[in-house]
Amino acid sequence: MHKKELSDLAYLKGVGPKRAAAFEKLGIYNIKDLFTIYPRDYIFNTKIKDFPKHKDTNVLIFGEIYEKLFPHKPNHPLRLTIYDGTGQTTCLIWGNYFYREKQFREGDQFLFWGKVSYNPYEHSIQFDYRDHKKYEFGDDEFLKYPIIPLYILPGELKKTRLKPLAMTKIVFNAIKKNSGSIDEFLSEGIKSENSLMGHKQALLRMHYPLSNADIEKSRQTLAFEELFYLQLIMALKRKSIDTIENGIAFEKVGEKLGKLFTNLLEFELTAAQKRVIKEIRADMKSKKPMNRLLQGDVGSGKTIVAVFTMLIAIENGYQCAFMCPTEILSEQHFKVLKQYFDKLGIETVLLVGGQKKKLREQILQDIRTGKANVIVGTHALIQEAVEFKNLGYVVIDEQHKFGVMQRAKLREKASESGFTPDVLVMTATPIPRTLSLTVYGDLDISVIDELPKGRKQVKTLLRTEKDRLAVYKFLSDEIKKGRQAYIVYPIIDESEKLDLKAAVSHYELMKKEVFPDLKVGLVHGRMFWYEVDETVEEFKNRKLDILVSTTIIEVGIDIPNATTMLIEEAQRFGLSQLHQLRGRVGRGAEQSYCILMADKLDEKSRERLGIMVETTDGFKISEVDMELRGPGEFFGTRQSGELKFTTADLAKDKELVVKARKSAFDLITSDPQLRNEDNVCIRKNFLENFKDSLNLINVG
Ligand code: ADP
Ligand code: MG
Repeated sequence: MHKKELSDLAYLKGVGPKRAAAFEKLGIYNIKDLFTIYPRDYIFNTKIKDFPKHKDTNVLIFGEIYEKLFPHKPNHPLRLTIYDGTGQTTCLIWGNYFYREKQFREGDQFLFWGKVSYNPYEHSIQFDYRDHKKYEFGDDEFLKYPIIPLYILPGELKKTRLKPLAMTKIVFNAIKKNSGSIDEFLSEGIKSENSLMGHKQALLRMHYPLSNADIEKSRQTLAFEELFYLQLIMALKRKSIDTIENGIAFEKVGEKLGKLFTNLLEFELTAAQKRVIKEIRADMKSKKPMNRLLQGDVGSGKTIVAVFTMLIAIENGYQCAFMCPTEILSEQHFKVLKQYFDKLGIETVLLVGGQKKKLREQILQDIRTGKANVIVGTHALIQEAVEFKNLGYVVIDEQHKFGVMQRAKLREKASESGFTPDVLVMTATPIPRTLSLTVYGDLDISVIDELPKGRKQVKTLLRTEKDRLAVYKFLSDEIKKGRQAYIVYPIIDESEKLDLKAAVSHYELMKKEVFPDLKVGLVHGRMFWYEVDETVEEFKNRKLDILVSTTIIEVGIDIPNATTMLIEEAQRFGLSQLHQLRGRVGRGAEQSYCILMADKLDEKSRERLGIMVETTDGFKISEVDMELRGPGEFFGTRQSGELKFTTADLAKDKELVVKARKSAFDLITSDPQLRNEDNVCIRKNFLENFKDSLNLINVG
């Protein structure tokens, strides 16, 4: 094998092969990539005499070691006096004393970074040392700047003994060497319309701002660029869907739809349900393939919307697929859908893993021949062996559990029959608007923003260990009234053995010690789906009073008589997840309760859980969740120790998202091929950096 070629990065001053390898692991492959590491913080480049101006601020000073005092005891710090021509200050440096002693020699010149603070006992200004760097040739070039950047140093880089100021110097070298080759990212038109800086200027000012205002201004430009390219992908994808010619126009409205509406429905549709059915129906009628996201809080009644719209497809002679993230949910939905469809003479089948071979073959055959009108299942639906006769409409439930690729495959599969089906993606995770524009920007969005009448708001209570007995008493009182309860344990990762053990032993405790007179059941993600299903069914039929469970009950289970939910260690869950869980109660006419058990909370957790107590509005909860956790974590996509981080902040940059979206969609309308001279830089950058994402999304 060839020795792997070193990238230009390895030859950059201060880097070398080891660090280049570390950078590579962090996704930084060449010098240009170094520009995309944005500062995590800035320090003021200052003189010692100006310290009083910088109280409680991080500063950089450059001076010589004037005096060096050894500690009296070996575990005490080395004391340096630094002189910079304007004044002197003291630096206390901890750490291996023998090493330090050799490192700092009187008369040597150093850069020191630290915090200026006021010492109230001595009424003096002091300098709290953080990091240093020996002065080298060339340092005075970046010492010209008033504000100096600091960057994140992931463990990978720390292992190479890279220190913050040395990292600053590396990035500085990269910029200095290559700033001539920075291309523009946006056309003049888009820049002036949105009052943005040029890319190069913004980038340089982001690293080396002249003032604090400079930082925000350049950040806005870079954030806009980032959002713009995301939206450009959305716009292109939209364009490619809009031009698909083999979509289906579901023109007919059959009599079954009327029958369902007038005879079979035991409730009145809410205004919101009626509105979204209309929106979906309009899409289905047109030949353009539908790509719509249906958002609706838990319990808002999305299933019946799916039933109505599936009927449209069926009465036009097409098959429908209903895809769920888990087998339990498939089973649950299958039962609900079957109830409706059986009465209308429509054949509904369930296709999941673990079915007996003979049954499975029969089902596959029914799908192939078209005998099966509605096919409910998990991703098993996109397996090779499944052959649809004429799949015209796909409903995907709880889509945040599916990957883009899975959605893509389903669509591909459906297109085997020569036309493109309509797709409805349903999600109960309310997503803040900015986020949905970013993540689902290629989809049309319908929202059910109203719950069916007569629902009582779930009362949410925050309780600690000392309330435990009272909480148990409350549960058993509710059960005496004839209701049922859930107890949820925090198994975040169902493969986590320790967590699972804890849940199982808690179940034993509940059953034997706490509620010996009640019937208690257990479900968790390591059980077979039919075992889970049987237990849930027992609970539904009131053969159990309490269901101890992990988060597998998070979605879809609908048992109106279960009115109380006790969530243990609530602080371990994300807010959106708690909201989902809480959605399992409050489904009937009785008052429901959600009790969050959490102990020893820090302020942030208290604030988070406080939101749950305060509101049941899923959209509000998701906004707060995103603000507190950041969009990356919100979606569970951000990797820890990621070096490249983006400048856009979806919680903060709502306006920018909207502007960037408008610019991108306008651009694709006016110059779809990006051939205008002004747009050449956009085309070039897109092809260089974003083409792959387009491929990925294009099939999704
Ligand atoms: P989700 O949006 O969480 O999927 P479901 O579709 O499961 O909600 O509906 C929750 C419950 O509300 C179901 O029992 C359903 O039959 C009932 N439901 C749906 N729409 C209405 C309505 N308009 N009026 C009363 N009950 C309704
Ligand atoms: Mg549902």
